[in-house]
Parts: sequence; C-alpha cells; structure tokens
Amino acid sequence: MIVHGGAWAIPAEAQGPHRDGCLAALALGAEVLDRHGSALDAVETAVAHLEDDPTFDAGRGSFLSLDGVVELDASIMSGHDLQAGAVACVTTVRNPVRLARRVLESEHTMLVGRGAEEFAAAAGVEACTQEWLVTDRERERWAELVKRPPTIEEFFDIPRGTVGAVAFDCHGNIAAATSTGGPPVKQPGRVGDSPIIGAGCYASNDSAGVSVTGWGEAFVRLVWSYRATLASLERPAQAACDHALSLLAPLQARGGVIMVDRNGEVGVAFNTPAMAFASRDGNGAIAAGP
Ligand code: ASP
Repeated sequence: MIVHGGAWAIPAEAQGPHRDGCLAALALGAEVLDRHGSALDAVETAVAHLEDDPTFDAGRGSFLSLDGVVELDASIMSGHDLQAGAVACVTTVRNPVRLARRVLESEHTMLVGRGAEEFAAAAGVEACTQEWLVTDRERERWAELVKRPPTIEEFFDIPRGTVGAVAFDCHGNIAAATSTGGPPVKQPGRVGDSPIIGAGCYASNDSAGVSVTGWGEAFVRLVWSYRATLASLERPAQAACDHALSLLAPLQARGGVIMVDRNGEVGVAFNTPAMAFASRDGNGAIAAGP
C-alpha cells in the first residue's frame, strides 16, 4: 500500500507533520489489509484520515476558493470490476472520499455540487459545516492571496496538499483514491484532475492503481493516471512512475504519482522539490517522505 499527501516545495518545518500524517494513514489502511479487508476499504480509510488531518489540502484544512468557500473533490476506483465513484464541488461533506465510495456503489459514477450533497444526505454520509472545514490558517492565507492571486510560475511554491492512496489486497485486488480542496483561491466551480477517473485516479487489476497530485488542468488533458497504469504493463512499478513523469513534458507540468502494480509492487515519483508519502511493500518494509 502507498499513500501521498501532495507534491510541492514542502518547507522543512512542515515536513514532519506531512510525513507523520501519511504514516498514520498508511497504518490505518494497512490494518484493514492485514485483517483481510478489501483494497477499496483500505484506500477509503486512509484517505478519510488524511481528509480529517488539517495538514493537508483535502477535507478539513483545505484551501479556500476565490469566494472564501472550501469546495471539495474526490474519487475512488476498484480495479477488479472497474467500478468508480467521484464527487466534485461539495461544501458540506466531512469526508468526500466516503461520499465517492457511496457513489461507486450506486448506479452513478460522478455527482457534483447540490446533487452530490442531496445524494450524501440520502445515503447517510456524514455532513459538516463550512466552519468545520475552514481553518484559521487557511482563512489567513486566503486573505493574503485574494489581494494578489499566485501566478503560474509561483504555483508550485505555494502549498499543495492533495491526498491519495493505492492498495493491493490479499484477494489480488487493487484500488485507488484521491481527494483535494484544489488549488488556493481557485475559481468557484473549478474542477481539476482529482475527481476525474483516468486523470487524478485510476485502478485496474490488469495493470496498476494510481493516484496523482499537482497541476490538475494538465493532468486532465494528459489523462495522466490512466497512462501511468498503462506504463506499468511494460515496466516494474517504480520504473512506470518514472516513465509517467516523462509524459508531463509536453505541457511542462509538475506533480507526483504513486502506484501499486498487479504484482503488489509500489512506486513513487515526482518532479517537484518534495512529495509527502508513506508506503509498505509486499515484504512489510516501510518507506516515507519527505
Ligand atoms: N491536482 C489537484 C487539483 O488540481 C491539486 C493538487 O494536487 O495539489 O485540484
């Protein structure tokens, strides 16, 4: 299993909380796998934990949109039956990944905005207030950034903390999930790669599971996650992640990718200064960054 908490220039003082948050999420997900639970349950559990951790740009502690509202996107995919669920622009759901899971189990694949929230209420998914999602840290950041929104050159120097997880279970099934608040001071209604199946998340038992983070607009156009899983057909997981980064060249995009392939091998690669992640390989060896 492998989890991530964003890829950007994570400053020295923030690296410990990012690594620890990823390790805690990995431990919770791995516990599910150790009691023979499903990869789908493991990634949902890990990502829900990262959403609750205000260190990251997902769930509580997310960046605010231009209008001062937290708008959340998430996706989840099951590799054995290609079922997928995604939600975008939700503002009153504590754990968007849990809502995405309920969408996966329904006749829908993607729900957005008001309809997604009505579905959440009907499905009994835990609601929350904006007051709960918005932290003082992010309210202060927003007050500064609205005075002068970041340029594209500054984009990767400002915090990015999208989260994700990929798991391989004892039944041989792969699952992946991604969750984000999107970039700071985003246009209200803006949707990036994270809830787009094939862009921000993909899983197939035939190849691999992938979750990515970084410049979402580019990843949608590059169909990045899906192409990363294809790269795994011809290479070990780590080499496939390295190859996936080369696919970003035409758009000079930056980001990070995590993978678990059909052999249960993990991989992680990024072309940003740092990436927060934690992994456990098939032998039980733990690795973490930054
Ligand atoms: N990819 C996310 C988005 O574009 C942001 C991120 O990964 O930090 O919404």
